[in-house]
Amino acid sequence: MKSGYGLLVLRYLAALVMFVLFMPPPLAHAASNPIEIREWQIQWIPTEEVSNTAPSTTGLWLNNSAGNPLTVLPEGKRGMWVHLTIPPTSTWQRPGLLADRLYGHEVYIYQENQLIYESKRDFAFDLNKFMVQLSPSPNPTNLYIQIISISERAGLLSGIRIDDFNDISDRFVIKDLPDLFLGFSIVFLALIMFICSGYLHRRQRSSWISLCLIALSLGSLVILYSPLPYIYFEDYGVIMLLLFDMSLFLLIPSFNYYIDQMFEGQFAFFTKFRHLQAGYSAFCVIALFIYTANKQNYEVYYFFLNVIMSALILLQFLFIIILSIVVALRGNKNAVILSVGIILFILSGTFDLIFYYLSHKTYVLYLWKFGIIILIASLVIILARRISNDYTKIVTYSKELEFYNHRLQRTEKMKIISDLAASVAHEVRNPLQVTRGFLQLLATNPIENNKQYFALAINELDRASDIITDFLTFAKPEIEAVTLLDLAVEMKKIEAMMTPLVSIQGGVLLLTTQDKLFFYGNPSKLKQAFINIIKNSIEAIREDGMIKLEASSEAGEVIVRIIDNGEGMNEDEIVKLGVPFFSTKSKGTGLGLMVTFRIIEAMKGTIEFRSNKAVGTEVIIRFPQVIQDKSLPNELHI
Ligand code: ADP
Ligand code: MG
Repeated sequence: MKSGYGLLVLRYLAALVMFVLFMPPPLAHAASNPIEIREWQIQWIPTEEVSNTAPSTTGLWLNNSAGNPLTVLPEGKRGMWVHLTIPPTSTWQRPGLLADRLYGHEVYIYQENQLIYESKRDFAFDLNKFMVQLSPSPNPTNLYIQIISISERAGLLSGIRIDDFNDISDRFVIKDLPDLFLGFSIVFLALIMFICSGYLHRRQRSSWISLCLIALSLGSLVILYSPLPYIYFEDYGVIMLLLFDMSLFLLIPSFNYYIDQMFEGQFAFFTKFRHLQAGYSAFCVIALFIYTANKQNYEVYYFFLNVIMSALILLQFLFIIILSIVVALRGNKNAVILSVGIILFILSGTFDLIFYYLSHKTYVLYLWKFGIIILIASLVIILARRISNDYTKIVTYSKELEFYNHRLQRTEKMKIISDLAASVAHEVRNPLQVTRGFLQLLATNPIENNKQYFALAINELDRASDIITDFLTFAKPEIEAVTLLDLAVEMKKIEAMMTPLVSIQGGVLLLTTQDKLFFYGNPSKLKQAFINIIKNSIEAIREDGMIKLEASSEAGEVIVRIIDNGEGMNEDEIVKLGVPFFSTKSKGTGLGLMVTFRIIEAMKGTIEFRSNKAVGTEVIIRFPQVIQDKSLPNELHI
């Protein structure tokens, strides 16, 4: 078995490729139908017996079958003889025999007293299988299999198959290939994930790497639970068993770490438990090395590495399930996915164990592999959700940051202007008025040629005065006298004031309003705000211009819409509205909307602009509505 396995490995690698490419692979054409032997006899081998020759057929033989095989060694026994009768095999050119599952560390096969196969392991893994070539015989022959074990079980688990040796050797590998394929895929996935971890941020990398380690150790467990590696790489059996245990000791702390990360460390006792278990796993690894080196005191090691560890693992699963259910009940979707993954994993393992004990320890566990796939899938989904969640958070956060930055800049500017405005406006207004008075006086007796210049000077002074009024309103927007206003009434007054101005521009002003739209505000400031907006509309329209005023109430608010079909604005212009001195007009001041915004804000209202270039503009102003109660005083001071 040991010699020439390099060639065999090559051959089975080729079979693996075939298997992956054409599942299931076409088997070589069989010369004769295969025979399955499912009945045999066994005889126990006492611990002290050393004989290697087949016992006589007349000794105490127990009948046994593949349906209910005996594998648990009774007290004082270290193995068994299996006797079976092989039917004539001369119909095959090269007959062969396959035993797919047996427990045992040493296997010797005799065909009619001639040793035709032997295999001896010096490591503890007891799941075994063998195939052997038989010499063709026209008569039935006796086959004796000696199975020796160092654990508490030994014996055949499955029936024995007789067939063409080529078909048998294909079958020998193919049955275990899916496991190896699964295991290697998981390990491969882990390695790829490991390489990708370089692209991640530090915060995500630790959970990512722990997930890599989980996948790596689970994949190794699947590979090393299959009998094939131990058969083809018998010399490395000890190392592979060591790797199997180490994978388990790596899996436990990585899994805990991952789960703790998912819970964001909110359960302090679980974090403590995780540290404890990580420490214990490290201790187990060291103990395992010491045991492998000197192979003494098996019971002590068994107690620490197996009994205590299993108890800790059970406790760990219990904690994780309870905690994830607690978190899931709080509405956390990740915890729901995690609980489902873990519960399915545990269920698959539990069913495996139930079948194992129901079948008197003859069942070979395999459901847990599906559990592993589900568990890994759920862990990957959770991590992906977390990463995408982080990303969404960052995007939202940066958008908010940009928005606040914008607002902050605006507020800063406003503050500077309002400070400046308050100090300068007072100082400038007085000399302006004095100058205006003198100009008026002089204008009553002008030299004819200069008359137009006086008018011009007075106009410009009026404009300067308007600007200063705007500045003052801006600097002192607090509205002292707040009255219960009816928007319908106010809008009618505004309509009356503005209609002539609109007509001069060749446009039409249309008002539609509901009745009794009450809210608190200051009538003169309100007028100033609306006049500023409507003036802009007037300046935006051309011939056939139309300005609509609509007042209504909706969801506890009174709403005014001022809609024009003027030149409109683009996105950039809309963003700049209300910024001091932003104006696209040659004679504009860029102060009108700044003042309007301040007034509406002071009256607890909101203003919104919607506009399209060359289509028109809609301004929407909202104030909190007051449902009028006759008992309310008409005027109140805030
Ligand atoms: P001004 O009217 O002195 O330019 P405002 O603060 O009142 O200053 O308005 C700022 C700018 O906003 C205007 O120059 C104009 O470009 C734009 N704007 C405001 N309202 C309208 C509107 N209804 N249609 C088109 N553009 C408008
Ligand atoms: Mg204006």
